[in-house]
Amino acid sequence: MTIALGTRFADAFPELAVPWQGEEAPAPSLLLLNEPLAADLGLEVGWLRSDEGLAFLQGRHVPDAARPVAQGYAGHQFGGYSPRLGDGRALLLGELTLADGGLRDLHLKGSGRTPWSRGGDGLAVVGPMLREYVVSEAMHALGVPTTRSLAVTATGRDVRREVVLPGAVLARVASSHLRVGTFQYAAAMVAAGQADLDLLQRLVDHAIARHHPDAGEAANPALALLEAVSNVQAELVAQWMGLGFVHGVLNTDNVLLSGETVDYGPCAFLDAFDASAVFSSIDEQGRYAFGNQPSITQWNLSRFAETLLPLIARDSGGDQDQAVALAVEVLERFPARYGDAYAARMAAKLGLPVTAGRPGEGVVPIVEQLLALLQAEHPDLTGFFRDLSSAARGNLDPARDRFVERTAFDAWAEQWLRREPDVDAMDAVNPVYIPRNHLVEQALDAATSGDLTPVETLLEAVTDPFTERPGLEAYTQPAPDSFGRYVTYCGT
Ligand code: AMP
Ligand code: MG
Ligand code: MG
Repeated sequence: MTIALGTRFADAFPELAVPWQGEEAPAPSLLLLNEPLAADLGLEVGWLRSDEGLAFLQGRHVPDAARPVAQGYAGHQFGGYSPRLGDGRALLLGELTLADGGLRDLHLKGSGRTPWSRGGDGLAVVGPMLREYVVSEAMHALGVPTTRSLAVTATGRDVRREVVLPGAVLARVASSHLRVGTFQYAAAMVAAGQADLDLLQRLVDHAIARHHPDAGEAANPALALLEAVSNVQAELVAQWMGLGFVHGVLNTDNVLLSGETVDYGPCAFLDAFDASAVFSSIDEQGRYAFGNQPSITQWNLSRFAETLLPLIARDSGGDQDQAVALAVEVLERFPARYGDAYAARMAAKLGLPVTAGRPGEGVVPIVEQLLALLQAEHPDLTGFFRDLSSAARGNLDPARDRFVERTAFDAWAEQWLRREPDVDAMDAVNPVYIPRNHLVEQALDAATSGDLTPVETLLEAVTDPFTERPGLEAYTQPAPDSFGRYVTYCGT
């Protein structure tokens, strides 16, 4: 099969892209292939399963016209600035063009060392790559903007971590890999006199054309881009918060201008609702705790804004101070924008009306009172919202039995039920199946030992999350106490 892989990023940004190729794999094999996604991308499933297809999915067989590159980027990691991150174990193979003309980056993770690898080995292992596949595909099925997973292939190489683990490569699909960190890298080059302001201008133009075309019409396109990115990030985080998703490592290099979720490393889903929940082993201060995700996103957007100041100043005919004032105005709108998006999500979860992206009259206090109850008693978030469907159908017991303070719950439920929630609408937004942490871990352990069946069953459950099906009861339950506190790890 001939695959047309575009070279737009590689051509447009030689300053940010190093031509590179994937490492040889001793014994390649296919672990998971996303057939529906392959079809959407115009890739033949039979070919992807062939030896040549496998070599393509590992970056060793590259179409003639393609030009794989490792991308440069910087980023604030846990608040500290790293000037040279970049693809340390990843490659952008190129851009695929969809039937509707849209572009998708095809990207590999775990394909070997690059000029940005620093001390790392450039490799990835089976468990974490399957985690990214399972969680990203679950997020997609849940309706959350996200990068997708096309395939996980095994390399047959032993990779040294705390123990020796089987190597793997993830083939990831994203509407682009333009990160806040990409802009930080370019802005730092401009500030150091290593590039002209034109580099930032080209990045802004590229991001606008690819993701936020309306911003191109504005008098101050860079400022309009900031606003557009701020808006898609507000929507994205609102979705995470409604589902109990904890990203775990919201560094600026893990924030995409497209508004897609990216980099499923130490992520987790809440069982028990808790604003202070943290899972990542290295997040000692709780910087990326569940409840901090909106404010840390605003912080990340502030770092994005800083990269745009020279362009904002130039196009507003003003100086740096005026550019700062304009950017701050946009950034200060983020909390309200996020607040509306979140309230609308919660209203939808409660089957209450949302008009023009805002919850109806009197809905916000109902949401706020419920959040106070959830934070006081920490019920299983996903199970609780499905029990509210039963409540709306007349059986209040499963939901109220999750609370010790039943009078408080009853008082809240009475108010809520008086508004006649739309229970079918609730069932369409409140999942039955999420990638429960303990089930993900079990499935990844089995896969690491060579048994893919649990991962496949888990995928079946979480890629069709809203329809309850027999035989999947175990997938609706929170972790047993014996699972203990869940701890996740970065960069494995
Ligand atoms: P992440 O924590 O996944 O966002 O990655 C942060 C940075 O570390 C990026 O520059 C990655 O490419 C790099 N990185 C992560 N794991 C490895 C590895 N095993 N080898 C080389 N670079 C890595
Ligand atoms: Mg990353
Ligand atoms: Mg990562």
